[in-house]
Amino acid sequence: MQHPIETITSPSNPLIKRLRGLERKKQRQETGLFMAEGTRLVAQGLARGWRLDTLVLSRPAMQRDHAGELADRAHRAGARVVCVPERLVGRITRKDNPQAVIGAFEQSRRRLDALSGRAAGLWIALHEVRDPGNLGTILRTADCAGLGGVILTGACCDPYSVEAVRASMGSIFDMPFAEAGFAALDDWRKRQGARLVAARLNGNVRHDGNIYGPKAVILMGNEQSGLPAPLEAACDTLAQIPMRGGADSLNLAQASAVMIYEAWRQRGFA
Ligand code: SAM
Repeated sequence: MQHPIETITSPSNPLIKRLRGLERKKQRQETGLFMAEGTRLVAQGLARGWRLDTLVLSRPAMQRDHAGELADRAHRAGARVVCVPERLVGRITRKDNPQAVIGAFEQSRRRLDALSGRAAGLWIALHEVRDPGNLGTILRTADCAGLGGVILTGACCDPYSVEAVRASMGSIFDMPFAEAGFAALDDWRKRQGARLVAARLNGNVRHDGNIYGPKAVILMGNEQSGLPAPLEAACDTLAQIPMRGGADSLNLAQASAVMIYEAWRQRGFA
């Protein structure tokens, strides 16, 4: 380890309080930060060029080989690096068995145009997704399938919430996303020449039909209420994933995965 590391032991230290507050949206908005847990995630964020504000290492983590290397990388990136007792890590993350390494990164907000022209020609838009676990899972699936981006329309949950970041398993750093009103999304996709294909329980075509074209935005509805009629009216296609049991719908993240992988399959998984 090339740099001396600051030690904090008091739960009332302002830094600990600030990091603990990142569980709340208000605090994330005020600070512009979000929390990533675990060595792999923090290293991934740094490697992708995200600005690390603070690195927290538990005392046991300090004994491990990789900790010194990570701390040096964080120092070089301009981050504050602190060592705390294990109980304080649990206090920050509100978990009984917390990860030994936590990074507070600066949030990044992209505009829709930043998602244009990405090679895949395939995007997914989520209308008013409310469950951060669903949002994180969809970011991860979109990343696995190499989509051009995820677009959040309407009042969505916060992609930088602790639950969404956890569920994304690192894809928060790799899968670009943008927030936009529906009118802006519809205008943008038309300029891209992309079809708008909604997943709808009572859609009039099957999701595995020839409906995606060379460029498409897949549109998914809210967990409770689906898609409002004016949004459906703006779509080129309303696609249904077949179901045959007693359940009335697939979970949003699962339905998204089915749509994404079918669209990609039709491109030969290229
Ligand atoms: N009651 C809601 C409704 O009427 O749409 C159910 C919402 S469902 C949990 C969330 C979203 O997942 C839906 O809006 C739709 O986009 C997608 N979805 C779920 N099951 C689907 C299916 N079998 N076919 C097409 N889309 C589906």
